[in-house]
Amino acid sequence: MIYVTEPEFRSLAMGYLKRVIGMTYVVTDACIRCKYTDCVEVCPVDCFHEGNNMLVIDPEVCIDCGVCVPFCPIKAIIPDTDPDASPWVELNQRLSQKWPVIRQKKPAPFDADEWKDKPNKLSFLEETLEN
Ligand code: SF4
Ligand code: SF4
Repeated sequence: MIYVTEPEFRSLAMGYLKRVIGMTYVVTDACIRCKYTDCVEVCPVDCFHEGNNMLVIDPEVCIDCGVCVPFCPIKAIIPDTDPDASPWVELNQRLSQKWPVIRQKKPAPFDADEWKDKPNKLSFLEETLEN
């Protein structure tokens, strides 16, 4: 008989869930019009994709390490297990297939600080890339 502690059991269960349902982190609408890009340089697997005014995470590539989370100055990155994550899971999955990978930090939009505390920014999302 093999005995495991409760933390060990939780860790094993989380690993199993990741393999079975593909847990990931997602970027929320807080990123829209802010795009500080502090997150991209710390991601070990280059899973951020850049649109005109938002970044998203490719759930197929994200290894669920959570390293990027504390680097986002406006807390725009959350796990898909968060109760607020459901609207953003499909959006990250879909747009990461359309937008190019971003690996290097770049200057934020000039008015990012004016937008960082505004809620419900989805209507400002620009899905189509500029040429
Ligand atoms: S650090 Fe946060 S706000 Fe900045 S680009 Fe990444 S997810 Fe968006
Ligand atoms: S959780 Fe890890 S792998 Fe996923 S986007 Fe953040 S840094 Fe990259």
